[in-house]
Amino acid sequence: MDDCIFCKIIEGDVPCDLVYQDDKLVVFRDIRPKAKTHLLLVPKLHIKSLLEVQGEHGDLLSHMMLVLPKIAIDAGLKTGFRTVINTGPGGGQEVDHLHLHVLGGGLAKF
Ligand code: AMP
Ligand code: ZN
Repeated sequence: MDDCIFCKIIEGDVPCDLVYQDDKLVVFRDIRPKAKTHLLLVPKLHIKSLLEVQGEHGDLLSHMMLVLPKIAIDAGLKTGFRTVINTGPGGGQEVDHLHLHVLGGGLAKF
């Protein structure tokens, strides 16, 4: 997607503070952190949001969940973390490329 900031990061055309990548996804630090640690887990495949996921994305969505513990522990979030996926304008999504927020460090319960 030509005008997608996360696709540009994945392509290496826009810099990021990368913490992890594999063949299916990248993880980098959010540029405007909402917690002491704020990572974005972003699939390399451009899917607009959870409203667009299909059965064929099942392995990818499963992989996103399964890599979370390693990413969180490596980022120092040994006692736990919060995950958030904003979906569409009704969910406050700003970047139209599916991503999962990983937040940790001094979070209040909500
Ligand atoms: P969302 O509101 O769920 O779409 O979240 C988009 C997130 O992407 C926000 O928390 C932004 O701070 C973050 N973001 C936008 N551009 C960049 C960028 N170039 N590098 C890192 N994070 C970004
Ligand atoms: Zn994209």
